[in-house]
Amino acid sequence: MSISATTVQGGLTNLSDEIIDELRGRVSCPVLAPEDAGFGEVREVFNAMHPGDPALVVSCSGTADVLDAVGFAREHGLALSVRGGGHSIAGLSASDSCMLIDLAPMHAVHVDPAAKLARVQGGAVWADVDRETQAFGLAAPGGVVSDTGVAGLTLGGGYGWLRRKYGLSCDHLVAAEVIGADGQVTVASEAENTDLLWALRGGGGNFGVVTWFTFALEEVGPTVAFTGVFYPVEEAAQVLRGWRNYVAVAPDEVTATFLTVTMPPDPTLPPVLHNRACALVGGVYSGDAAAGMDILRPLRELGTPLMDMSAPTPYVEVQSGFDAFFPRNTLQAYWKSRYLSSLSDEAIEFVAARAKSRPSPVTLVNVFSMGGAIAAVPPDATAFAQRSSPFLLSIDGNWTDARDNDANIAWVRETFRESAAYGDDGVYLNFTGRSDEPPSVAVDSAFGANLARLAEIKAKYDPTNMFRSNNNITPAGG
Ligand SMILES: Cc1cc2nc3c(=O)[nH]c(=O)nc-3n(C[C@H](O)[C@H](O)[C@H](O)COP(=O)(O)OP(=O)(O)OC[C@H]3O[C@@H](n4cnc5c(N)ncnc54)[C@H](O)[C@@H]3O)c2cc1C
Repeated sequence: MSISATTVQGGLTNLSDEIIDELRGRVSCPVLAPEDAGFGEVREVFNAMHPGDPALVVSCSGTADVLDAVGFAREHGLALSVRGGGHSIAGLSASDSCMLIDLAPMHAVHVDPAAKLARVQGGAVWADVDRETQAFGLAAPGGVVSDTGVAGLTLGGGYGWLRRKYGLSCDHLVAAEVIGADGQVTVASEAENTDLLWALRGGGGNFGVVTWFTFALEEVGPTVAFTGVFYPVEEAAQVLRGWRNYVAVAPDEVTATFLTVTMPPDPTLPPVLHNRACALVGGVYSGDAAAGMDILRPLRELGTPLMDMSAPTPYVEVQSGFDAFFPRNTLQAYWKSRYLSSLSDEAIEFVAARAKSRPSPVTLVNVFSMGGAIAAVPPDATAFAQRSSPFLLSIDGNWTDARDNDANIAWVRETFRESAAYGDDGVYLNFTGRSDEPPSVAVDSAFGANLARLAEIKAKYDPTNMFRSNNNITPAGG
């Protein structure tokens, strides 16, 4: 028997049993073909629209397995996908007929509390990091959903509840161990291969498989001031205006998000929220929790609260507080995002109107406050170029029935297109579904003036573009 697999050039090749057995002999982890027991249990991806159908899965248990897997793919010219947490909206870690490097078993986190550093393996999710770092009252800025992968989120930037005080996840990346296209281990840090570290801070999965990340940690919690208030969606415009006026003067310790969603008839929720479209305001204060509750108070007085969950809250609970909106392998998802240089009254009316016309109850329309530590880093200091916008609009199309794909995708695209009238400062690649435009349009817009340097670094570390199932940067001269 043999397996048909896609080559890096886009053709097909047959992998015989002997060839696959040779790989099995090299690595110390499971190598699974579609007929093998356990193939279906490889960590599922978030987006049920892009489940992926790999030819071969190597569920790596450590750096040596990744080295052998990359070496094997190189020798046989195989197309690779690399999966960290599996949360790519565009299904970048779920290509068909590829060889999948599955990093799920590699989720160790080692904290050095004296040095305020954490070493994190390439398949960890944020829950792994928060659990270990919070044992020491420390945190690396992560995302807001606890089973999102550290790898994809950090390599693409990384916004969470600490973003205005401490910046992006990639800003806290101080070193990485990378298995590159040359099949070697390369360490990037502020002392060696500094060009690679620069590129990994926002340049995506273009430069190889990151097997270990080292993050600088901040003192956080263990209890933080948290605000979570549900207002009726009918008050969305009024709430968003008040939210905008508040965040314009709030200190950098405050990170706030506005989102609209329809709540399920969950018996653990008060009946007033059942099947209710809501404008939800969330906020975290990074600092003294008691003082933070006072500073966040105006976010609780923007309209007529249906439910107010605001309280000093363990940081790890805040970090998983939004998980229920995003069950893995359940939702069809198509997202788009746009940075906004201002949030005019007209833009607010637009957001409120789109919030009311959502075709699916679990679609979210979000506005994130930016600025603070994000904007304090010069745009060319890291690969992540877009730092100046005060707001990010994110249109998270989520629904459950694949028969509704066309209508939901069309609504997200229409909302995205029309939002250009209110400012257009580029897109956030981590919130981007498969595009109706060539992928390079989003990539060029996101990297802007940093693209040329990224292309040079890509040419140095991956001249044949072996790592291409990502927001792909064409190697310079390629
Ligand atoms: C429910 C949900 C919530 C989210 N919340 C946030 C949020 O709060 N903040 C935010 O900024 N973003 C958020 N995102 C977006 C998120 O940052 C991206 O989807 C990101 O790509 C997820 O990383 P992952 O490792 O889970 O993805 P994967 O699907 O595993 O990988 C995505 C990309 O990263 C590459 N990659 C993965 N692992 C490695 C590795 N070890 N080495 C090299 N390349 C690798 C893959 O090849 C692929 O190109 C969210 C997404 C979802 C679905």
